[in-house]
Amino acid sequence: MHPSMPRPTTTATDLPPVCARRPHAPILRRLRMVAAKLAAPAVLCASALLVDVAASAHPGGHGDRQIRFPDVPGALTLVVDLHTHSVFSDGSVWPDLRVEEAVRDGLDAVAITEHLEYQPHADDIPHPDRNRAYLIAVEEAAKAGADLLVIHGSEITRRMPVGHANAIFLEDSNPLLRDDPLEVFREAARQGGFNFLNHPHWVGQRDDGVARLEPIHEQLIEEGLLHGIEVTNDLTFSSEALAIALQHDLTILGTSDIHGLVDWQYEIPQGGHRPVTLVFAAERSEAGIEQALRAGRTVAWMNDLLVGREEHLAPLLAASLVVESAHYRRGAVLDVTVRNRGSARITARTADSDLLYSGGPLVVFEPLAETTLQLKTGARSPRFELELEVLSALVEPEKHPRLVLSGETTAEAEGD
Ligand code: ZN
Repeated sequence: MHPSMPRPTTTATDLPPVCARRPHAPILRRLRMVAAKLAAPAVLCASALLVDVAASAHPGGHGDRQIRFPDVPGALTLVVDLHTHSVFSDGSVWPDLRVEEAVRDGLDAVAITEHLEYQPHADDIPHPDRNRAYLIAVEEAAKAGADLLVIHGSEITRRMPVGHANAIFLEDSNPLLRDDPLEVFREAARQGGFNFLNHPHWVGQRDDGVARLEPIHEQLIEEGLLHGIEVTNDLTFSSEALAIALQHDLTILGTSDIHGLVDWQYEIPQGGHRPVTLVFAAERSEAGIEQALRAGRTVAWMNDLLVGREEHLAPLLAASLVVESAHYRRGAVLDVTVRNRGSARITARTADSDLLYSGGPLVVFEPLAETTLQLKTGARSPRFELELEVLSALVEPEKHPRLVLSGETTAEAEGD
């Protein structure tokens, strides 16, 4: 999307439509999934007391804003933003700031994806070499000694029916400057590119805000030239894009598409975060990320919402919520202390609303913090099990995953 008003350009071959600056979105009032409709959820289990995987460390010394999620069995959980802009297309900052923001946010990787055809700053920054923003970002990351992977991308920027798409892991962006959009995707694929549809629901190109595929997208999928789709972009989510991803076996992605400053757009000082994709990779490298993306091993995270295939979201939730203790202090009311080891605030509903002694049927696990629930277990029991429906996560449109917290209990002597 384009938060700034596009200005006339002499280089664009097919301009994106004009769009106005989006209103500043207050993060604290943003969508919470609490009110989301409920439908037959999937079941997943966590033997919580047995899980002992350290949360991923994100060195860099930027404190609370660092995005952290625990690794999952068999894979590292990498945090990536695959869609960003600088002044080399219609962004407002030099590429070095994209690098510094990414380091501050604790990202493992950031892709620089300037619009190929849309160059509103061309009079001031001619940009004859479309690789330039990426190369500057790589240089800056090396100069700063940043522990950050910088990925080479470009945004294919066409009117509908093609719309906007990113190609990443490119060797050279310049050969992508072609008239025929099919040829652009083919060239990207020849270079080993991973191509994904950007904000297919964007009101700038879809009046109704509803994502749908055009025949050319279906052709791209058939030819193996389209590999992923953004289900969240900036502060928007598209349930239709999620359905398309599942139906056509496209990788589920969430990106910032940042043009201005991450701190302002996502209110980082107030506790906000940039939207990202969590990638479950065998190794922390560009090759590891690419392999995981091609295998569809991702979860998108925007505001409090986590979106992914059940096979990837379930292990992430199980690794995130860990039972620290389950203790009877008085009677048969069990204090269950749960640590949330991820940066996502997780809102869940108990399957049995009579079970909670304190609080209502909704439970909120604050990020990187402990929460203690009190359960009425009827009689003291050596084990407990608590089934939750995770309302702040989606595995399909309108389908939430289930999570079972369980473990051994300890007890103080009766009658104290
Ligand atoms: Zn963009």
